[in-house]
Formats: sequence, structure tokens, C-alpha cells
Amino acid sequence: MNKVDYLRISLIDKCNFRCQYCMPNDAELSYILSQELLTKFELLTLLKEVFIPLGFTKFRLTGGEPLLRQDITEIVEEIANLPETKDLSLTTNAYLLSEKAESLFLAGLKRINISLDSLNPDTFDRIIGNTNKSRWQKTWQGILKAYEVGFNPLKLNVVIIPDINEHEILDLAELTINKNWHVRFIEFMPIGNNQLFSEKAWIPSSEIREKIKNKWGLEEANITGNGPADIFKIPHSKGTLGFISQMSECFCDRCNRMRLSADGWLRPCLLNETGQINLKQALRDGINTSEIREKVAQLLLIKPDINFKQRDAGTDMYDRTMSQIGG
Ligand code: SAM
Ligand code: SF4
Repeated sequence: MNKVDYLRISLIDKCNFRCQYCMPNDAELSYILSQELLTKFELLTLLKEVFIPLGFTKFRLTGGEPLLRQDITEIVEEIANLPETKDLSLTTNAYLLSEKAESLFLAGLKRINISLDSLNPDTFDRIIGNTNKSRWQKTWQGILKAYEVGFNPLKLNVVIIPDINEHEILDLAELTINKNWHVRFIEFMPIGNNQLFSEKAWIPSSEIREKIKNKWGLEEANITGNGPADIFKIPHSKGTLGFISQMSECFCDRCNRMRLSADGWLRPCLLNETGQINLKQALRDGINTSEIREKVAQLLLIKPDINFKQRDAGTDMYDRTMSQIGG
């Protein structure tokens, strides 16, 4: 059985962007009330008394947009300082990074993943659902600041959507030629009752890879620690290209992670609702952390049977959006 030692922690479900593939039905979203968010103290209690004793050592902070949490730097610092933490990373849209990159780095964050789906300000604004002043420039400044501060590796996550940013595959891949950046193409998933998905099919990684290969050639890059990504390189480039193909290739057998939502639900699988437990409620109900740990240990035992392949028959779309689950 695969060792499950990685927890993806959503800190907030709100976001300052409205990416079409992530928060498509914004009007219908009801956000978690602030008193229902897991507090920093509750999160640290769960990490120290439940997850770390069960062998979890790798943590990713995500959301929604995690930089919207006022206490983000303290959360980073406390998790980075836990002696058992082997790896701490964060996924962000970079809009607030120019201001926050340095303090996050000093607090102990060394790895960062940034979502960037377009190099064209108009397309970017269209994807993030922005109708006011363009947000591309500030986002790009945030990425450059993260690079300058020293985040390494700096990974850029790209979701390619047919007819929207498909024509930018080569431009985005080209970023890896002169910079030690890692561009990762993530297949678009049917999450959040997404019209965009039902109208137009997603593009498989193999197609994206072929396009890049035809332009520059591609070689396999032997790099470990990239989870489900298949890693390649344009010959002689400084960075790498990753392909995360959760739609075209099922990698449930290699799954090493669980997800904790911003309101404290522990979820064993991204695409299957089965088995969730509300750990925040358990803490607030005064349940002893050794009992909570036992519940999580039981869930870990059945986790291999809760996966994408075994999800409810006939369920093709998931109502909870990625921003609610924690991407
Ligand atoms: N706001 C942060 C950001 O955008 O990086 C963190 C949260 S976001 C939900 C985490 C990741 O999920 C992003 O890289 C985003 O591209 C990805 N994502 C969201 N919806 C998706 C979907 N339907 N299919 C594939 N990836 C998706
Ligand atoms: Fe916000 Fe990230 Fe979702 Fe975009 S992908 S709407 S930035 S949570």
C-alpha cells in the first residue's frame, strides 16, 4: 500500500480571481463563514497531534487563494518550524506575491507553485473573470518577485482550455528555456458543475506534449519528488516541463495525499466524496485528539478503495468547485 504522508491544506475558500475553470458559478457559491474556518491554532493542533503522529511530513497550503488569509505568514512559520516537517509548499495565483513573497520566504517557505494560464493580458483577464483593470501585470510582478526572493523550485501551473489559451502552449513552454522555471500543464478536470467543461472537451497532456516536441524536441528529465507529474525538458533548457494527466491516466494507485478543507473536512480523494470526516467539528465538540487520530487512521486504511475509479457510478461532474475543495 502506498504511504500517505502528504496533506493539502486549504486555508480559505475565497479568492480574488474567478477562474472560469475553478469558480464557474460564482453567483451560486456560498463562502465558508469566517467563524467556520479552521483557526491557526486548530490547524496546528491537528498537525501536531493527529497528522504528524500518523506519519504525515509534507504539507501544501492552498485554497481558494491562501494569501488572502491574514495570518498566512504565521501559519507558514509555525508549520516550517515543526521538526517533523520535511516539505512545505504553497499554491497561489501570485496576485499578492509582490507584497508577501519576502516575508513568506523568511518565515520558512522555500517552494511555491503559481497558477498562470496566459501571457497575454487580455486572455489572462478573460480566464480569471476580471472585467475591471487588468490584473496581469501585478500577477507577473508577483512571479518575478518570487523568483528574485529565491523560491526554488518555482513551478508555474497551467490549465489549457480549448479555444481560450490553447494557442499559448508554446509561449508558456518557452518560459523554461532561459529560466530555471518548471511549467506544469494540468489537465482540465470536470469539477464544480462547469459549463466550460461540458461544452468543450479537455485537451490531453499527450497532445500538449506533442505540440512542444514538434517545435523543440523533448527529452525525459529524471527528477524525483514531482508527485504525479511526468517531467520532460526541451533540450538545453534551464527549466523543465511537467504534465499532470489525471484525466487521461489514472494515478490513484500512486496516491500519497489527503485534503483538509478550509472548514475542517478531511477528504481522502479529490474526485470522490466518500469517507469525509469533519475534524474541526470534532475538535470543537471536545473530542480528544487521540480519538480523532484513531478515526483518521481508520480512514487511511480504507483510502485505497476511495478513488477516482471507484467514484459514484454516473457521476461525471462534481458540485464542489476546486476553490472549495482546495486544489
Ligand atoms: N488560488 C491558488 C491558485 O490558483 O494557484 C490556489 C488554489 S487553485 C484551486 C489550485 C490549482 O487548482 C490551480 O493550479 C488551478 O489551476 C487548479 N485548478 C482549479 N480548477 C481546476 C480544474 N477544473 N481542473 C484542473 N485544475 C484546476
Ligand atoms: Fe482562485 Fe486559484 Fe481558483 Fe483561480 S484557480 S479562481 S486563482 S482558487
